[in-house]
Amino acid sequence: MTDLTRAYAETLDAADPLAAFRDRFVLDPTVTYLDGNSLGRLPASTAERLRRAVEEEWGAGLIRSWADWMSLSAEVGDLIGTGILGARPGEVIVSDSTTVNLYKLAAAALDARPGRRVVVIDDDNFPTDLYVFQGLAAQRGLELRIVHTDLDAGLDPGALRAAVDTDVALVSLSHVAYRSGALVDMAAITRIAHDAGALTLWDLSHAAGSVPVPLSAAGADLAVGCTYKYLNGGPGAPAFLYVRSELQAALRQPIWGWFGQADQFTMGARYDPVPGIERFTVGTPSVLATYAVAEGARIVAEAGIGRLRAKGMALTSYLIELADAVLAPLGFSVASPRDAERRGAHVSLHHPAAWQVCQALLHRNVVPDFRTPDRLRLGPAPLYTRFTEVWEGVDRMRAIVAAGEHERYPA
Ligand SMILES: *Cc1c(COP(=O)(O)O)cnc(C)c1O
Repeated sequence: MTDLTRAYAETLDAADPLAAFRDRFVLDPTVTYLDGNSLGRLPASTAERLRRAVEEEWGAGLIRSWADWMSLSAEVGDLIGTGILGARPGEVIVSDSTTVNLYKLAAAALDARPGRRVVVIDDDNFPTDLYVFQGLAAQRGLELRIVHTDLDAGLDPGALRAAVDTDVALVSLSHVAYRSGALVDMAAITRIAHDAGALTLWDLSHAAGSVPVPLSAAGADLAVGCTYKYLNGGPGAPAFLYVRSELQAALRQPIWGWFGQADQFTMGARYDPVPGIERFTVGTPSVLATYAVAEGARIVAEAGIGRLRAKGMALTSYLIELADAVLAPLGFSVASPRDAERRGAHVSLHHPAAWQVCQALLHRNVVPDFRTPDRLRLGPAPLYTRFTEVWEGVDRMRAIVAAGEHERYPA
């Protein structure tokens, strides 16, 4: 029997080994923030780091500061790759957006599998991923083989296995599903792809900073992901990409820019990319935003993905227990895997008036997210979210729906 009192949430907070990390962020104590998986909080150190970059490096240093800036994307990539994702040095770099990186790496993978014209994806992948693959299929005359995934339970590995044969060039999936939070077994899926001679391309946007990502251990080939979600890099912060070391020299991405070029400043007339991870970058990086990524990612790495995973499982399990006890009688149901091992750090709840409940919660200073169809998505990011915040979010949902307060908002 779950203890439903606020006092119990307070005892969970008192025992939380990550509790002190909350103080590393800018926060308004009147706001219950349950959307850290969409936009992570602002680290308290970011403003000062950006001030230094703007005033000292840009303002005073001017173009001389490129001496420091040239290696920044790779350094922050390594911080993310080795400190947060299970990658080796030189396998991750910060560049462009997740969408653009997905296009670059998918095209590179397709070129590396000439003669194979099938890409396997699933229908619950994030919309931008679906669109990128629709575009690639149209440009290159490919077949998109789309596996059906249950919106709440996540991908069925058996259905994926049935879709992968020796016509398949690439399998591309999300590690953690953006709506349900369902977590797939990266090693098992990679094995299925590799057994058929296909490459894998993972979208880690909802996984980076929330769950261990076993890139090396699974033998994953390629990956992309956002830095503004659990990595707290700020709105529009540049994304990261990962390419397994052994593949780097053989792969070519489709946008041949000068930041991937060997001996960039000899200004040679012909494109001849560097052998390493920089060949997957394109043009001048977003330096200021990359500093913000570094601040956010450093705190995540310091907290440690093992402890973040443990707290993410505890927070989401607690949320599900409260939802079952308090919200189920009011028409809510859990729309995420119930086994904590099979989900990331967010949970979706189904309610027929989810959109209206969302509006009412925002009005009461609780920030959730709405996802089609009829789902409230709750992301209690483990780095800074308290168990009491989860309790408050659930309690206000209960109060709103019990009083019919949400009915005042347009459907
Ligand atoms: C948030 C998210 C994106 C966003 O891509 P952008 O290029 O940053 O807009 C892509 N994929 C997944 C799975 C996401 O969750």
